[in-house]
Amino acid sequence: MSRICSLFLFALTLAAAPADWIWSARYVITMDPQRRVIENGAVAIQGDRILAAGPKSEIDGRYQPKQRLDRPDAIIAPGLINTHTHAAMSLFRGIADDLRLQDWLEKFIFPAEAKNVSAEFVRWGTRLGCLEMLLGGTTTFTDMYYFEDVVAEAAKEAGMRGVLGQTIIGFPVADHKTPADALAFTARYLERFRNDPLIVPAVAPHALYSNSDETLKASRALANRFDAPLIIHLSETKKENDDEMAKRGTSPTKTLDSLGLWNGRSLAAHAVWVDEADMAILKSHHVGIAHCPSSNMKLASGVAPVTRMLALDLAVGLGPDGPAGSNNDLNLFEEMDLAAKLQKVTTLSPQVLPATAALEMATIRGAHALGMEKEIGSLEPGKRADIIMVRIDRPNAQPLYDAVSQMVYALKASDVRDVMVNGKPVARDAKILTLNEQQILAKAAEYRVSISKSLQ
Ligand SMILES: [Zn+2]
Repeated sequence: MSRICSLFLFALTLAAAPADWIWSARYVITMDPQRRVIENGAVAIQGDRILAAGPKSEIDGRYQPKQRLDRPDAIIAPGLINTHTHAAMSLFRGIADDLRLQDWLEKFIFPAEAKNVSAEFVRWGTRLGCLEMLLGGTTTFTDMYYFEDVVAEAAKEAGMRGVLGQTIIGFPVADHKTPADALAFTARYLERFRNDPLIVPAVAPHALYSNSDETLKASRALANRFDAPLIIHLSETKKENDDEMAKRGTSPTKTLDSLGLWNGRSLAAHAVWVDEADMAILKSHHVGIAHCPSSNMKLASGVAPVTRMLALDLAVGLGPDGPAGSNNDLNLFEEMDLAAKLQKVTTLSPQVLPATAALEMATIRGAHALGMEKEIGSLEPGKRADIIMVRIDRPNAQPLYDAVSQMVYALKASDVRDVMVNGKPVARDAKILTLNEQQILAKAAEYRVSISKSLQ
C-alpha cells in the first residue's frame, strides 16, 4: 500500500510542470476579469511571466518550483502602476510648498531646474525615486522629464518597468535649447529603447500652453512613427482652460483634438478641468487619463470628474505627480485612498469610487491607460510577473474582513515586503536588492546642500 502511495506521489512530481518561483500568501488579489480574491492562494512564475494564480493546494500540485516564498501573513497583489510622475524631481522634495501651480513652477521649480538639472542629477534623482517606488509596491512608473535616456538607464538598473517620456518644451531647458533639438534627440531615444523588456520609451510634449502647435504636431508624428505613447499635461488648472478660452475660444482638449494630437497612443495627465464634450473626445480616441489626487489637492488645482470618467469607462490610472512640491512623495497606497475619498467628499456620496474601483485604477485600469493591459495590471497566466507581497500582521491591518478594502483604506506603502518585476525579485523583506540604498540617500543629502546654495 505504502509502495503504491509513494509511486503515486512520484508520478505526481513527474507530472508537475517546472516553475522558477511559487509565491503564496493568505490572500491573492488577482484583479483578473472576475476580480477573484483567493484565500490561501499562490502564484507560479516562469521566466518573466505568470504561469498561474489559484488556490495554494492546486498551484503546489501543478508546479515544481526552483524557489518559493510563502507568507501566510501577507497579501499578494499585482504590482502597482504609477501613470504620472517626474521621478528625478525627488531631489527637489519639499523645496517649495503651499503655492499655486503657476507660482510654484515659475518662481521655484523652473529656476531651480535651470541651475541644477544635469544628466547626473537625473540619474541620482531617478534612483531615489525608483527606490521609494519599488519599496512602496510600485512596479511600473510613467515619467516625464529631461534626459529621459538617463531615467531609462536608472530604471533598468533598479529593475523597474517604465513608460518614460522625453520632455519637449518651448523654451531652453537643461537637456535641449530648442524643441527641434529635443525632437531629434527623442527620435534617437525611441530607437534605442524600442524593444527593451522593461522600458516603453515615449514622447512627452509638456503641455499645450508650453509648446507651439507645430511642435505638438511634430511630437505626435514622431510618436506614431515608433508606435510610442504620447504623454501630455492636460487641463490641470482652471487658468489653463481660461487662457485657452481667451486665446482660441475653446478648451485645451478640443484644441489638441483639432491639432490631431489624440490620433495615436495618448496619455493625458490630470484632466481636472474637462467637460462632457472633452470627455467624449478623450473616450473616442481611447486617451488614457492619469488622475493625481494628492497633487490636485495640494496645488488646489481642482477635482477631476473621476466618478463621471469611470461611468464613461475611461481608462483612468493614478499618479502621485510630484514629488517636488505637488505631493511630496511617490506613494500609490496614498493615491488610492485619496482618489476614493476625494470623489466621495465632493459628490457627497460615499458610494462613489468604492475600494475595488480605486484598486483597479492602481492596477488593471492603469494598465489600460498605458495601453499595456495585455502585459501588466493583473495576476493572470501569460502576463508579466510584476507582483507584490504586502504584510498584514501589523495593527493597521488587523482584523481583516476584506483584502481589497484593506489594500485601499488601511495598508501603507511601508507594509510592502517583497517585490518582483518581470519575474525578478527586486525587493525582499522590505530591502531593495538592485540599488545601493545607502549611497543613494547619501547623495540625496549632498544634493540638498548644493541645491540650497544655488537658490540663495
Ligand atoms: Zn506632472
